[in-house]
Amino acid sequence: MYSFYINKMKKEGLKVTPRRRAIIEFFLKKDSYLDTETVWKSLKPVFSRFGLPGVYRNLEQMRKAGLLTRIQVAGRRRYYGLCSNHKGEHHHHIICVKCGKVGEYSCSDFFKKKQINGFKVTGHFLQLNGLCPSCKEDKS
Ligand SMILES: [Zn+2]
Ligand SMILES: [Zn+2]
Repeated sequence: MYSFYINKMKKEGLKVTPRRRAIIEFFLKKDSYLDTETVWKSLKPVFSRFGLPGVYRNLEQMRKAGLLTRIQVAGRRRYYGLCSNHKGEHHHHIICVKCGKVGEYSCSDFFKKKQINGFKVTGHFLQLNGLCPSCKEDKS
């Protein structure tokens, strides 16, 4: 998975910096969505001059390049998750409310409509919340 993100970064014209490598590694290790502060705290011991605004800027650049997706959660913080879509097609994310795992699903025909009840559809955002297979099994 790691090389998939590095290749995608190159393809999207983002420079592969040690900081961006570290961000990808951290997301892969955690296998969950994370907020900017958590990412920043994990990188601080290694990149002492990497400030919170810098981390935020990098996360946004990586989001725009399609490596990360922004997750909507109740509360004010901004969360990001790794987007593992290989084909680059339009798709959506499903979030495990228990462990934060990020899954994906493709867009249904309904949301591909260009016109709904006389409205011209110009875009949409859709995120499903649920339980991932391992959290669903967990009876404790
Ligand atoms: Zn995705
Ligand atoms: Zn889960």
